[in-house]
Amino acid sequence: MLIARRVLLGGRLRLQSRRAAHLYVGGGGQSVRPGPSLARAVAEDEHYMRLALDEARVARDLGEVPVGAVLVDDEGEVMARAHNTVETSTDPTAHAEMLCLRQASKRLESWRLLETTLFVTLEPCPMCAGALLQSRVKRVVWGAPNKQLGADGSWISILSSSETDTKHPYHLSVDVTRNVLREECSTLLVDFFRRRREQNQEKRGEE
Ligand SMILES: [Zn+2]
Repeated sequence: MLIARRVLLGGRLRLQSRRAAHLYVGGGGQSVRPGPSLARAVAEDEHYMRLALDEARVARDLGEVPVGAVLVDDEGEVMARAHNTVETSTDPTAHAEMLCLRQASKRLESWRLLETTLFVTLEPCPMCAGALLQSRVKRVVWGAPNKQLGADGSWISILSSSETDTKHPYHLSVDVTRNVLREECSTLLVDFFRRRREQNQEKRGEE
């Protein structure tokens, strides 16, 4: 089985080879006890998910639903990072994943984002899952399940690549790793919506 491994070289995470980091299940699910290689892969995924969480906090501070994403290339270099800006840009497609794909495509001057991994704090919606397949992203790592709109099994399933799933006609084998830093990603969202409900109640009380 292929195992995803990067090592710290000169202070920078560098991808050595990629194999089944998708074999493990992060924080919220059952997990395989990691060996040294797998433990490194888990640590790397958490490292990039923390960058995505930083983006999500920027969104929160702007009053946006706190979702963040980073796109990383095969060498472990961050090619794009973004947060949800649906409200501030009045654009229903301005999800963190979509913005990452646009940034990276511009930077690479190609819409084919082969050999890249997208880290996002929330299970992608159908729009973003479709865009990830269209752009040929190799691997998707998400944090919290999106119970209402998740397109990796929570609502519908278009990202999964198991033998029994219907496969995308051109992108047959996207790897998916789920529930990485699930608690941190979920807490950010739960706290945001609780605060928003409280603010709405206060407003109604003043009227
Ligand atoms: Zn989306």
